[in-house]
Amino acid sequence: MAHEIHPGYSQISPLPNPPSQADEDALVGYAWSGGSNLANNFKASLKPALLELQQRRCCYCRRLLSPNDQDVHIEHVLEKHVYSDFSYRRQNLALSCSICNTAKNKRFAELKQTRSPSITLAHHAQFGMDGLFPADNTCYRWVHPHFHAYEQHVTILKGWVYRAKTPVGSQMIDDCEFRNLAKIEARNRLARLAMTKGPGLILAALAECNQARKLTVLRDVVDVLKKVKHKPI
Ligand SMILES: [Zn+2]
Repeated sequence: MAHEIHPGYSQISPLPNPPSQADEDALVGYAWSGGSNLANNFKASLKPALLELQQRRCCYCRRLLSPNDQDVHIEHVLEKHVYSDFSYRRQNLALSCSICNTAKNKRFAELKQTRSPSITLAHHAQFGMDGLFPADNTCYRWVHPHFHAYEQHVTILKGWVYRAKTPVGSQMIDDCEFRNLAKIEARNRLARLAMTKGPGLILAALAECNQARKLTVLRDVVDVLKKVKHKPI
C-alpha cells in the first residue's frame, strides 16, 4: 500500500558462503572476540555478504545502515555469551544498527536479572539442552532475520511507524523500543547520514550538531572524520 514503507527484503536468503577453511563447524569453540585468523577471516567475509543480502538495512528496524562501520553491528540473535556454540552459526548472525543492538542488549540484561541466565530472547523450553541449533521459527520470541518473513509480522507505515501483525512482531517492536522517541530520533540521524556520500558526509554530520543533543552526535562526526582521513576524497 502507498502509505507503507517496504522493509527492503523479506528474510535473509540464501546464507552467505563462509570463506574456505573457516566454516561454522571449524569455528565451534572459538571465542567471538578471540582474534584468531580463522575467526577474523570469517567475520571479514560475512559482513559485506550480509550487507548485500540485507540491502544495507538493519535486520530489525529495516532502516538503512550507517556508512560508519562502527555503527553496523554483527548481531547474534541467540546471545553469544549463553549460546557460545552458535557464535559462528551463520543462521544466528545478521547485521543490525547500533540502536537496535543496544536496545536488544539492554533487554537481554533485564531478562538475565529477572529470570534464569539461560533464558534468552528465544523460547528456551523448546531448545532442550541437546546443543542443537533451533532452526525453526516457532522457537523465537522475535522476528528472526533468517526464519521469519518480516512483512508477515510487522508493517512499517510512512514516518517509520511500526505496527505488529503477530506476537513476534509485537515483541520485537517493544524490545527494540521502536516507539521510544529518543531512539526514533537517533535512528533518523543515522538514516540521514546513511543517505549522504562523499564530502557531503562531513557537512551532514556537522549539520546534525545543530540539533539539540550535540554530545551524542559528536561521536558520529569523529567517526566520519576518521573515515575520511583513511580514505581521502
Ligand atoms: Zn535497527
